[in-house]
Amino acid sequence: MSEPSVAYLSLGANLGNREETLCEAVRRLEASKGVEIAAVSSVYETEPWGKTDQPRFLNLAVALRTTLSPEGLLALTQGIETSLGRIRHERWGPRTIDIDILWFEGFEKSTPELTLPHPYMTERAFVLAPLAEIAPVLTIKGKTVEAWREAIDDKGVNNISEYKQSEKNGPQLKS
Ligand code: ADP
Ligand code: MG
Repeated sequence: MSEPSVAYLSLGANLGNREETLCEAVRRLEASKGVEIAAVSSVYETEPWGKTDQPRFLNLAVALRTTLSPEGLLALTQGIETSLGRIRHERWGPRTIDIDILWFEGFEKSTPELTLPHPYMTERAFVLAPLAEIAPVLTIKGKTVEAWREAIDDKGVNNISEYKQSEKNGPQLKS
């Protein structure tokens, strides 16, 4: 079997029980064949982006090691979105869960189905704030994630809790 690759994901939810949905998405990733969770960021409550007349999001970032291909990981994350009740309506509209692949070790590509690194990741504080916790020195377009985060206006992006991996119960939000 090939060596696992490192990848980073951004998860967001703004409908229903947002905490529970995020926890469940992380659990399903963890339970997936060929995927091992390496780190999970704190949870941030964030103002909606693009389309502002909708509920606030909860966002977090995940680091994982995977033997899947980038396309295999996309199929997995889209399957988890669907299984958690995501219905695709409008772009940037409300969603039960959104899982984006931010970066995948060794891959740069640009197709409508999959663009890596994620094209908007350096413009969005709700992506950069959680990612900077778990990958501060990851370099994207010639700058570290920490440097991108420092350069961006992060008003409206608030760390609300630390995400904790409980050995007994799986991932949970620390209250
Ligand atoms: P958005 O995340 O931009 O709000 P969607 O989650 O509905 O919108 O995704 C739209 C499409 O973006 C998906 O069908 C997917 O194939 C494509 N896509 C392109 N690059 C990526 C990426 N890096 N991660 C996740 N989806 C991506
Ligand atoms: Mg998406």
